[in-house]
Amino acid sequence: MDLFEYQAKELFAKHGVPTTPGRVTDTAADARAIAEEIGKPVMIKAQVKVGGRGKAGGVKYAATPDDAQTHAENILGLDIKGHVVKRLLVAEASDIAEEYYISFLLDRANRTYLAMCSVEGGMEIEEVAATKPERLAKIAVDAVKGVDLAFAREIAEKGHLPAEVLDAAAVTIQKLWETFVAEDALLVEVNPLVRTPDDQILALDGKVTLDGNADFRQAGHADFQDKDATDPLELKAQENDLNYVKLDGQVGVIGNGAGLVMSTLDVVAYAGENHGGVKPANFLDIGGGASADVMAAGLDVILGDEQVKSVFVNVFGGITACDAVANGIIGALAKLGDAASKPLVVRLDGNKVEEGRKILAEANHPLVTVAETMDAGADKAAELANK
Ligand code: GDP
Ligand code: MN
Repeated sequence: MDLFEYQAKELFAKHGVPTTPGRVTDTAADARAIAEEIGKPVMIKAQVKVGGRGKAGGVKYAATPDDAQTHAENILGLDIKGHVVKRLLVAEASDIAEEYYISFLLDRANRTYLAMCSVEGGMEIEEVAATKPERLAKIAVDAVKGVDLAFAREIAEKGHLPAEVLDAAAVTIQKLWETFVAEDALLVEVNPLVRTPDDQILALDGKVTLDGNADFRQAGHADFQDKDATDPLELKAQENDLNYVKLDGQVGVIGNGAGLVMSTLDVVAYAGENHGGVKPANFLDIGGGASADVMAAGLDVILGDEQVKSVFVNVFGGITACDAVANGIIGALAKLGDAASKPLVVRLDGNKVEEGRKILAEANHPLVTVAETMDAGADKAAELANK
């Protein structure tokens, strides 16, 4: 998950990385009030998850509360590379002597972590990386040894930061590494990391990507999710630990295993060509444990999609055998009651397939049709969706 700048700076503050004080708002009147409260010139900064806000007019200096309001009015609603600005950070403006660049990231190709540092930070860093790569130091970071103060100083030195600020920069760089580790981040980037006229080092921008695989031990990170920008069905699926992606069609799809679900989407789309062009409505992988609860949660999400007209459940019994899946489906329908209102085509194969089909036959649920093969199931589901 990528964070907004203001969220990145919340993490920076938590780990002692110096930055400028500020607050976030979604109205120009409030931006003015915050500027008044700060009582000094401020920066009005668009909060969108995309780089190059400065060049796009999304970062403005405001000398007075009046200016703050005017800039806020202009920036709210601005479209920056397809991201419409709904929120602003109003932060105390800092004086800048120099702009540096620093980041920590996961270097997958070399199976290590990487620090990048440059004295030539600011809005042209991509240009520096492309035309003067020797000015952007890249230093591998050993995952076990990490970054202590001495190593942080070395990173700053290799980035050609001036001698007078190496000590101060080292302290901040070390804290950024601490943030990277403690928050289970995949990326922590500060551009610009500035030197003020009185040789303080401040993080004036922040880009952080958190590793979703660590969510189980990062309870606080759930609050960072941008609920406005996430599809409500996808949100519900996430809350139930389901791998769900909403698509645009009419045939809901549930399967176990990403590969099987992917091929089910293809087969449904192909079958749909004979049934009025219906298409798959979603990707949903319920994984290995197809219990009644997981099946109910999955069906609940899919049936919540108004576009869905039928559902194709395509499961290959493995460790979770077909009888457990069949019981899961019947249990899910019982659990959902009247909420389950659309026809279900079920194709089971693999471990204990006979037992599974028997359970479905005996339950004889009015909504359920059993299909023998994947192609037949897709065809039936497409036909039902086209009714
Ligand atoms: P980005 O363009 O999306 O990376 O947004 P930044 O937050 O990096 O801001 C862009 C540029 O605005 C920076 O490179 C700075 O030159 C300038 N800027 C940001 N904050 C301040 C500040 O507090 N004071 C001054 N004088 N300039 C700032
Ligand atoms: Mn920046």
